[in-house]
Amino acid sequence: MKKKENLLTLLIVLGLALGAIVGQFLLYDSSLSEEALRSAARPWQTAGEVIFIRPLMMMIVPLVFISVAVGVASIGNPQKLGVVGGATVLFYLGTMAMAVALGLTLVSLIKPGVGVDESTLLSSGVSAFESGGISERIAGGPSDVGGSFIGLIYSMVPNNFLQAAVEGNTLPVVVGGIVIGLALVLGGEKCKITIQVLEGAFEALIKLVMWIIWLAPLGIFFIVAGRVGQVGLANLVGPLGWYVLTVVVGLLIHATVLLPIVLRLLGKTNPYQFMWNVRKVIITAFSTASSTATLPVTLEECQASGGCSKRATNFVIPLGATINMDGTALYQAVAVVFLFQMLDFDLTLGQMIIILVTATLAAVGAAGIPSAGLITMAIVINAVNASLSAVGGEGARTLPMYTVGIILGVDRVLDMCRTAVNVWGDCIGAKVISRLAPDDEEEREKALA
Ligand code: ASP
Repeated sequence: MKKKENLLTLLIVLGLALGAIVGQFLLYDSSLSEEALRSAARPWQTAGEVIFIRPLMMMIVPLVFISVAVGVASIGNPQKLGVVGGATVLFYLGTMAMAVALGLTLVSLIKPGVGVDESTLLSSGVSAFESGGISERIAGGPSDVGGSFIGLIYSMVPNNFLQAAVEGNTLPVVVGGIVIGLALVLGGEKCKITIQVLEGAFEALIKLVMWIIWLAPLGIFFIVAGRVGQVGLANLVGPLGWYVLTVVVGLLIHATVLLPIVLRLLGKTNPYQFMWNVRKVIITAFSTASSTATLPVTLEECQASGGCSKRATNFVIPLGATINMDGTALYQAVAVVFLFQMLDFDLTLGQMIIILVTATLAAVGAAGIPSAGLITMAIVINAVNASLSAVGGEGARTLPMYTVGIILGVDRVLDMCRTAVNVWGDCIGAKVISRLAPDDEEEREKALA
């Protein structure tokens, strides 16, 4: 078993490295336009999708629904579920706020936007903003925290559950799983058989996930080649180099220092051993840039290799993939301050606090799919702009939304990095909450007493 596991890890790392090499040296061509690069990379991305991402995505709806229902049913008592659910949400919000605070500190110290000549960046940024479809996506999304929350709550209670599931909205599926799980517990003796059927279905789904994970090396090879082929690694060190560095250093500190401290204190676990145990999850998140696509792998690996309890994982991981995004929160804070710095704005402490709150909440609202964080970043920019207008009155200078186009080019790679941190944060949540909801009956009674 161990040998097989090591072979798979080796193959995945090989797929990742070869993908980066092929993307950089065979696909990327600096003389081509963005559009041409995008179409050259398309067949590679399609191959990656068909081989790995689609099989994973296909699992999401049944897996989320059944795992949450089984998790909730196994926690049992609604009051105890309230304690576990409350602790999970608090944990997630707390670690996200920590990530934003770290991002704000770093971007204020490193000042990646100060002294950058924005004139050339702006013209290419504007065209990237208009042509990449980002402007429409931002215009179609919520513009403030209130709107984002109303949207979130609205989507939790769909008119038609099946339609929401078909459209791939995970939040209503999580809510549906919680409600059914509770009803099954309260239904008593007669519902026991349904719980057992769901438990059996869950085991079968996890078996399928284990098969799909063997497709990871090949899938990851194609996906990474396509991504690197569109961006070109050299662009990461151009005028945006300091910005990229600030985001990457922030993500690294959060993932390897802050979150491990939290895990050590609250989860009483050796964090680096745990990180090694869930390595496939982190690599899959990095390669796919989607917490949602990674979800089946996260569920399977946290239980099979990470030693997390089934009770906690089944409930905490689907919720985490939907709302917990430490990496996205940190990235949004750094990106927004970077853009303001570049256009010579002096942000006040109050405006920094606005960023702290809105970046945390905007990350909650971001979907677990590629580039989602880039879209919800508009909420943070709008909030700071509203404060600038309130202070400066009508006609006050604000940050134009098209400046987002400037950071679009390097976003594909940063998206991979932040998604890895998002999912690592979910795994830590599952490990910490495993103490509150262990599988062992006696321990569970003790923890929740
Ligand atoms: N791609 C990220 C995720 O799936 C979200 C983001 O764009 O920040 O977790």
